Amino acid sequence: MATENSSPPAPKPSLSSAVKVRKTPVKAGPLPEVPEVKVITPMGWMHTARFLTTAAELFHLPALDVPEIAFVGRSNAGKSTCINTLTQQKQLAFASKKPGRTQHINLFSLGKQGVTDAVLADLPGYGYAAVPKQDKLRWQKVMANYLVTRENLKGIVLLCDPRLGMTELDEVLLEVIRPRVEEGLNFLVLLTKSDKLTRSEGAKALSIAKLQAGGGQAKLFSALKKQGVEDLAQLMWDWTHEAEPDGTYD
Ligand code: GDP
Repeated sequence: MATENSSPPAPKPSLSSAVKVRKTPVKAGPLPEVPEVKVITPMGWMHTARFLTTAAELFHLPALDVPEIAFVGRSNAGKSTCINTLTQQKQLAFASKKPGRTQHINLFSLGKQGVTDAVLADLPGYGYAAVPKQDKLRWQKVMANYLVTRENLKGIVLLCDPRLGMTELDEVLLEVIRPRVEEGLNFLVLLTKSDKLTRSEGAKALSIAKLQAGGGQAKLFSALKKQGVEDLAQLMWDWTHEAEPDGTYD
């Protein structure tokens, strides 16, 4: 009777018996040409920013059919520093601080290879004490008109120094834009200079700003510590580029 011990050992499976190994290497032919695909990141896209135009009155602004994002805030909120950090161009938004342009709406184009696919609008900082009252009132009107009527406006970023919180003029602006935000206009309260806050102060400021933003969002940002820069670039991209049903972008 055959026992297990007496049967010959089963051959061990070897790689060479399972897979045919080619001994002689095949000469590699020329590789097919693969077109170079340049993927642009939201940060790279932001870095394409360049000056487009400046306007002292609303009717001087060109009508555009590309999405526009407005940056607003009281003077000294950190708006120029934020735009310069985001676009990685030292002097871009300071163009808006040049004498004669401080009360202008300055537009910057975004888009690779010179093609504008979105626009940033830098609105004049408000609340600067040295501006005569007449000018202040005129400007509040121009700004309110812009925010309410600009057709290609896709979103508003309200910059706010969280150590000061929302000022009276910020509240006025919130009231002006509230109907559009309720209708679905993108809105972000950006709490600047967050490097000046402790972690818990930052969290508290953020939760207050989220309430004040109504249907909008709130984020912390520091140009000094580069906090929130990529996040902001991504949001700007998302606001201005429609996602396809499969999740890709145009
Ligand atoms: P704007 O009037 O809103 O354009 O404000 P600026 O960009 O000119 O900034 C006002 C002041 O805040 C300047 O002294 C900036 O150096 C300072 N500032 C701006 N961003 C930051 C930041 O992220 N951290 C700190 N610590 N200071 C900032």
